Amino acid sequence: MKRSSSLGRAPALHAGTPVRFLRGVGPQLAEKLGQLGIHTLADLLFHLPLRYEDRTQLTPLGALQIGMRTAVECKVELTEVVIRHRRMLLCRVSDGTGALTLRFFYFNQAQADALARGVTLRCYGEVIRGPASLEMVHPEYRILEPGRPLPVDDALTPIYPATQGVAQQKLRALSTQVLQLLDNSPQILPELLPPELLDHGGLPPLAEAVRYVHRPPVGAPVNELMVGSHPSQQRLAFEELLAHHLSLRQLRLNADHSRAWLIPRSTQLLEQFRAQLPFKLTAAQQRVTAEIFRDLENSTPMMRLVQGDVGCGKTLVAALAALNCMASGFQVALMAPTELLAEQHLQTFTHWFAPLGLPPVWLSGRMPAAQRRHALADIQSGRVQMIIGTHALFQQDVEFARLALVIIDEQHRFGVHQRLALREKGAADDLRPHQLIMTATPIPRTLAMTAYADLDVSAVDELPPGRTPVKTVAVSDARRAEVVARVRAACRSGRQVYWVCPLIEESEDLQYQAAEDTATRLASALPELRIGLVHGRLRPAQKETVMAHFKSAALQLLVATTVIEVGVDVPNASLMVIENAERLGLAQLHQLRGRVGRGAAESNCVMLYHAPLSQAARKRLEVMRATNDGFEIARRDLELRGPGELLGTRQAGELNLRIADLSRDAALVPKVQQAAQLLLARYPAQISLIVRRWLGENSRYARV
Ligand code: ADP
Ligand code: MG
Repeated sequence: MKRSSSLGRAPALHAGTPVRFLRGVGPQLAEKLGQLGIHTLADLLFHLPLRYEDRTQLTPLGALQIGMRTAVECKVELTEVVIRHRRMLLCRVSDGTGALTLRFFYFNQAQADALARGVTLRCYGEVIRGPASLEMVHPEYRILEPGRPLPVDDALTPIYPATQGVAQQKLRALSTQVLQLLDNSPQILPELLPPELLDHGGLPPLAEAVRYVHRPPVGAPVNELMVGSHPSQQRLAFEELLAHHLSLRQLRLNADHSRAWLIPRSTQLLEQFRAQLPFKLTAAQQRVTAEIFRDLENSTPMMRLVQGDVGCGKTLVAALAALNCMASGFQVALMAPTELLAEQHLQTFTHWFAPLGLPPVWLSGRMPAAQRRHALADIQSGRVQMIIGTHALFQQDVEFARLALVIIDEQHRFGVHQRLALREKGAADDLRPHQLIMTATPIPRTLAMTAYADLDVSAVDELPPGRTPVKTVAVSDARRAEVVARVRAACRSGRQVYWVCPLIEESEDLQYQAAEDTATRLASALPELRIGLVHGRLRPAQKETVMAHFKSAALQLLVATTVIEVGVDVPNASLMVIENAERLGLAQLHQLRGRVGRGAAESNCVMLYHAPLSQAARKRLEVMRATNDGFEIARRDLELRGPGELLGTRQAGELNLRIADLSRDAALVPKVQQAAQLLLARYPAQISLIVRRWLGENSRYARV
């Protein structure tokens, strides 16, 4: 039935033709393929090999070396079933230049019988050292019929990501089939990039690139192909990155049709504020502030991301932006990811703005009803101009009088749709608020281009003067006593200390328990110290009290869960101990470490780990020891863990890259950006086609 249309006239194949169309694909296989993300012919073409095997040459047995993966042709000398620790089949083969043992742990009698003396075999496998000779364990093999020589492969053998029930052979056969269809039906994979991009960019045409990657010819540069740097692979990665970039740019362009309040530059209030600061702005803070002010003077809503390393002073930049809006009578909402951080901002902004007669108001989901009603009335009437809180700021019942700016602090876990939704929520009279987003940690360039292309980016790329880099060591928790002694010494010299007990189990109770146990133990080891404990189970008011005591130095040692991870600012703290550091990701470790080194004193970070360390954990701790540079750490993080750690799983899931690798393909960034400009300016009709191809028909991104 499904193939009747292919009789006689050519069926109208296209990228979205279901795989069911292919010979040999029934409902069951189609479902299995679906598990690999393969639904259509295009999906199959973009299901690329993980690696390649070279079966284009036969290696004489005498030339085999340990570690080689190769094809050999040989004659069976002897086949026997032996029982050592377990039952196994050993097959001794030779070819006149040397000998080899084939070893099978899983086999049946028919197989053993077929491997009779004198039979000729073609095998492929990895050469390892066996007890008596070189061996291949479970090689792929074929028995050759006498007088019927088998030609060697004329292309490298692709190894595809497979799954239970869809074996390599099947995937190879299917991709062969669809590549053949592509010969006669180029419309399955139309070229979407304009000729000047292909010619000047030195990019091969799409169909050619796809064919090459699936079936690299003899002599193809295997090493390049293995690491994904071959021009054919880069061509595909390029188009995929371009699709993601374009989709966000397009969303942004659509959003730009909406309008925002025009906010003039206010000098007087800002001067007054600057005069009361105990320090001068860094050049980077000045530059970024100027960029923001320019945006605010525009009737297109600002969508700006401020990125910078931990401790570079992003809060102050936010404060200047807020003040500039408030000077003209507008409202500003500042949203933080946790209550703790929101409370800290409340304190900072109260300290800064109350003297100017502009005290901020606090809004939380958990505040007493009467107090909340009061706050809501003040917000609605416009009596208060600055509102600080968590996402409770944007609940249904919150109505703003003249909201001109939304500041989102440390929000690197938001996706584009959340950003847009927030803007809609703050809208009034057809006017959208400006949006300023502050990241917690720097973002590598490829990631920014792919996940934040809807935003303008400013970088506070300079730390305030007088900071000394934090000295970092990794210490086995067997040496806990030494670390306790360091805590004592630091507190004795008037400094303060954090002792962080990160999440071990995915349970707040257990985490709280771990922190409480640690606090108890430290209290008995250090009876002379004033020790506080803060964790997620405390009520906001309790947390606030503990934090306030730590800030005022009434507490010397603060035992905490990772609630203090982001943003907390106590410059006198100069030592941080992180328990179970081996379990944390780089971004999180860097965030935590950023809580010290905020004053002029030399600061230290002790990463306590529990031996033995895994390879990956050892690498992370080494990176932390080697550098304090957040940009470098972010780059390594991307390399070691992929975008999930940096973006949050939800947003990383939105990215869902099939071919491009954000860490490997960083060099494509400038090209992708130029290509996007070109398409937007000269080939707008191509954009939605490219986006659909890579992000899918139903993707919300694709609605461009
Ligand atoms: P982050 O960028 O990590 O959010 P913060 O805004 O918390 O950093 O600033 C870190 C610390 O640096 C704060 O104590 C802040 O008061 C201080 N700070 C900010 N700007 C300057 C500056 N220009 N000179 C000196 N200290 C500054
Ligand atoms: Mg901050």
